[in-house]
Order: sequence, then C-alpha cells, then structure tokens
Amino acid sequence: MAFSYCASRFQSLRRKSRVVSVGHIQLGGRHPIRVQSMTTTDTLDIQATARQSIELAEAGCEIVRITAPNVRAAEALGQIREEIRKAKVDVPLVADIHFMPNAAMEAAKHVEKVRVNPGNYADRKKFQIREYTDSQYEEELERLHEEFSPLVLRCKELGRSMRIGTNHGSLSDRIMNRFGDTPRGMAESALEFIRIAESLGYRDIILSMKASNPKVMIQAYRLVVAMMNEEKMDYPLHLGVTEAGDGEDARIKSAIGIGSLLLDGLGDTIRVSLTEDPVAEIPVAQDLANRAQEWWSSNNKSDLEVKENIDPFTYTRRTCQEIKLGQPHLSLGDKKPPTVFVSTHFPTFDTAAIIKEIAQVQTQSKDVPVEGLIVRIRTSSEFSSLQTLAQSLVGAIPLIIVEDERENDDELPPAKPGCVPMAWHPSAGFTEEAPLARFLAFCDQAGHYPIISLPGRELSDGTVALLACSPKSPLITLAPTDKIHTVAGYRVLATSLSLNQLSLPLWIRTREKDRLFPGADYFSARLLDASILSGSLLCDGIGDLISVENMGSLDRNRRLAYNLLQGSRARVSKTEFVACPSCGRTLFDLQSTTQRVRQATGHLKGVTIAVMGCIVNGPGEMADADFGYVGSGPGKIDLYVGKNRVKSAITENDAVDRLIDLIVEEGKWIDP
Ligand code: SF4
Repeated sequence: MAFSYCASRFQSLRRKSRVVSVGHIQLGGRHPIRVQSMTTTDTLDIQATARQSIELAEAGCEIVRITAPNVRAAEALGQIREEIRKAKVDVPLVADIHFMPNAAMEAAKHVEKVRVNPGNYADRKKFQIREYTDSQYEEELERLHEEFSPLVLRCKELGRSMRIGTNHGSLSDRIMNRFGDTPRGMAESALEFIRIAESLGYRDIILSMKASNPKVMIQAYRLVVAMMNEEKMDYPLHLGVTEAGDGEDARIKSAIGIGSLLLDGLGDTIRVSLTEDPVAEIPVAQDLANRAQEWWSSNNKSDLEVKENIDPFTYTRRTCQEIKLGQPHLSLGDKKPPTVFVSTHFPTFDTAAIIKEIAQVQTQSKDVPVEGLIVRIRTSSEFSSLQTLAQSLVGAIPLIIVEDERENDDELPPAKPGCVPMAWHPSAGFTEEAPLARFLAFCDQAGHYPIISLPGRELSDGTVALLACSPKSPLITLAPTDKIHTVAGYRVLATSLSLNQLSLPLWIRTREKDRLFPGADYFSARLLDASILSGSLLCDGIGDLISVENMGSLDRNRRLAYNLLQGSRARVSKTEFVACPSCGRTLFDLQSTTQRVRQATGHLKGVTIAVMGCIVNGPGEMADADFGYVGSGPGKIDLYVGKNRVKSAITENDAVDRLIDLIVEEGKWIDP
C-alpha cells in the first residue's frame, strides 16, 4: 500500500485532526492529549459507580467511560451523572455499548459520548464462514445503515459525540469473511460506520483500533489513518492496547502500542488499560501524554531525506545475515529471536561483585539468561579486571561486551584462549573513516568482535566499504544523537545499512537517563522509555539485539529486556496473558482471578491464556489465545480452547484446576 500515515517517521510531528467535543472537553486539533479510563463497578450500583468516576476525575482522568450492557444500565447513567455533578465534578461520561442499539439510544440521553463497537452493534458474531457476493455485501451495508442511523441522528440532535471503537477480536463475521482477522478488516469495519454517519451529516466522531497484540494495534491505527487520508477524513484517534493485563507486562504493551503511535504524531486521547484499580491507569497515561506533548513541541528539525524501504502496515523482519559469536555460540540476526545484552552497574574493577551477581541471576533464570554482559572501562588499568572476568565467567555467559570509554587510546588487550570472548565497543562512536579503519584492524589483531556506533544519517561510501570488508562482521548500534529522536535514528541507520546491502545485526540500546516529568516514578518512567524505543522498532522488524541499561541493577535490566521482547512478540520466554481490565459487566473478581491463573500457569512458555470478564464480549476479544477463562454468569466460568467453548458453567472455585486439566488434555502442560 503506497499511501502514508504520518508527516514524518524521522521527526515527531502531530497529525492534524478535527476537533471533537466530549461535553466541555475538546480533543483533537491542537488540544492536549486527553487521558481517559473506565469504571469497573456494576453500573446499576449508582453510588459505587459515581464514587469511582469521581476518584478517577480527581486522579486526573479527563473522560470516564461506563458500561451500559442493557437499557436499565443505560437509564442508570442519568442518575450516576447527577451524583457526580452533585459532587461538583464535571468530568464527561461515555457509555460503552456492545450489541445493544436500544441501550445506546437510551444512553445518548444521559452522557456526553457513546462508544459503539462496529463488530457487534448490528452484527452477531458466530464464527460462521460464508462467502458474500458483492450484492449480498451491499445488502448487509444497507441493513447496517438502517440499524445505525437512529443512533447517529440522536447523537446529532443531542450534541453527543461518538467513538467508533473497533476491536481486533470482535470483528463481525461479514468483515472477517471478506478481509480476515487483519488490520485491514479493523480499518474497514470502522470506515463503514463513519461513511454512514457522514451521509447523515454527522462528524463528531473519534476512532479507535484496539488489539491485545501491540504489533497488530500499531498497524491497524496506521492503516486507518492512511485510509482516512485517502477519503479526506480527519477524525481524532483514541489510542489503547486492549486486554493488556496487569503489572509491568501491561504497562510495557501499552507503552509499545500507544508510545510508538504518539511518536509518529498519531493520537488525541489515550487509555492505558490495566487489570488493576482503574486509578492506577492515570499516571501511566499522563506520563505518555506528557512525552508526546514534549516531542510534538520540540524544535528539532530533521533534514533527513532517507527513503525507508519498509511497509509500515505489514510486519516484516529486517533482513540480516546470521552471525555467530561468543562461547557457547550466540546466533544473531537472520530469523533468530533478538539476543539480550545486560549491563551491570558495578564498576569493572569490582570483579567479585559482578561474578556474584551473574552467578545469582544465571542460576535463577535459565529461560531468560544474560546472553552478553556489558561492562565499562575508563582507563587501560582496568584491563586486568577484564581479564579476571573473562576467566571467571567461562560457562556462565557467552560474551562480554566492553563499553570502552577511554579517550584517544586504541590499544586493545589480546583475547586469551579458554576465556569468555569479548566484543569491543568504543562508546564515542566513529564520525571519520580513518579511526574506524584502525579500530577494525585492532579488533582483528586482538581477536575481539567489533561493535560500531554510527550516527543516524546516511553512511559515507568509505564507511560502507570498511564495514563490508571487515574481517569480522561488526554489530551496529546508534551513536547518541540530539538531532532526531532515537527511534528515528535507528530507522535511518537500518535504512542506510539496507540501501548499502549491509545486512549487519542492529543492537537497540536503552541507556539514556531521560528526565522525569513531575510526579512520575523513576522506574515506571524508565520502563516507558525502554518500551517505546525497543518496542516500536521491534514492531517494525528492526533490532537483532536489545539491552536495557538504566534500571539500576543487572537483574532488573535483564527482566525488562525479556519482558519487552515478549510484549513486542519478538521473543517468547513465558506464558502470555491477555486479561480484560474488567468493567460493570464483569461477573467475578478479575484482578485476583488473573493472579491465581498467573500463579498456576505462569511457567508455560509460549502458551497464551485469556482471562475475560464476560461472556458477551470475551470470546470475541480473546482472538489470539490458546485457552480462555471467561465469566459466564455470577460465580460461573466457561473454558475455551481457541475460540471453542469446551466446558460450561464451572464453579469459580474449581475453574483454575479445570483450566489446568484442560491444558494437560491439550498436551500443553509442563510441570513447574
Ligand atoms: S470482556 Fe471485560 S472489559 Fe470487555 S466488556 Fe466483558 S467484562 Fe467488560
């Protein structure tokens, strides 16, 4: 697809969207990114829902969504609104609608915005396979027009805005049969609804394209923007990764999805969906929003004219030759999952501390090992400590990466047989060809692997020739840059390498100590930095090695790096959990249940388990899962294998054990 979705992939420029009002809050255009969330209480419990909405507003939530699963709940929104206004809180409310046009019609009387899911507003999802002829498809669209028009006209009359909120897992059978379970299907699904609304002269619309897989979500948002551009549409975007789960993994997935789109200038309102108290979503969303406002207002002009050779709407891993290094061999590049380098915060001369740290981490975490240890040297006097590490860590790690911070010193100690091999990286990088040539020659003589930092700009012919002729294929990383954002720098580097037929592995490093926004937590902020940088590149197929170097300890750096790879679906090292954030439809305690399921199954590497609050929306939304645990009635659980329900109405107390039985039956269980 040739069309484009953003003004620049090398500079963070905000997309121009139309302004839409949600009550007194305006979003889109040049308005700040609006932070929103959703209540988890039973909507019919007016007091509890009003109280939670007020708590959210007090925490900084600017728009509150409440589920309206039926007409009674939609009517209750009026009373909830009154209670909130009585407390002098003017936060706009949104009704969340699935399946129930009647509930939507009622809700529009009481709240400032109505969210509909185009996958289930007028269609039923039965996972039916059917071929639609063009005329049958047209007939279906006419039926859609008839069913959706009354809500559009009511919103228009009452001055309500609307979100057309597509979910990857709940596309209608009609869309699935024509476009498949794809970003294209998601985008088409939303545009069908928008065209109906426009035909009735209604344009107060916000769009979302959520998926639990950040890669799919990123592609769907990019695609819908590109398709809107073709049709001269400029609707604002609500960004979110759905069913992200809880804890660090959920924050990582949200930061990858939301952060990378914001970096490309897309997004007007965001929700960080967590299976936790919804108030916990607000600081994470605010931190992301603050970053985007800063990126968009930055004066850093990019004068780059590199023509990228990637398709931003389809995932393809960058071509990279296979390189073997280390002892035992690490295989990098080609189609190998990205390798994890980890830095220690101990100084290199404190060899005892480093050896102890490595011993602890490597014995505890065999599935997620340190594959290369990054150490720093500032003077040649540290060579003897390096040698001690290289001798002592044999069998514990395959490779030592020496971050060489010495000034004007080319001398390298020779590699010794029987020791851990070293990769040598002069941290100042190379802007000229002569020192680069000297360094490559020294590495060759000393028996070390070369790692080269290059600036995020086109490579000179001389540099290309040196890299191509190097006796040992170097690993490449980005030299620190303040000209363009770091993601853009890596994009340029990846493009320059491929344009010059250099298929060398790229190492993505998170090491900057970016500043903290007021009120932000240090580790949470660093987690967002790493997720946005590595996640957005990995989702574009760029990156053969990653490292996180600013989390304060080797163990934290290691864990975050693996979690990032899992969140980007680049390397699976543990069970993948898809968990809905819960809402007023939830029929059991989703937070504690998710924890129990996690405790029982968290060791099943490569298995995806979905924990979904309700039967109405659950099966559709857990599109990617191997097993599903879905609330089907008060205290009752249905279990799924893929999209098929295989056990019904199990008592909640027995459900985790039955889930394990099912995993055993399906041959996917291993003992912890
Ligand atoms: S799946 Fe979860 S968040 Fe979605 S509607 Fe059901 S209970 Fe609410």
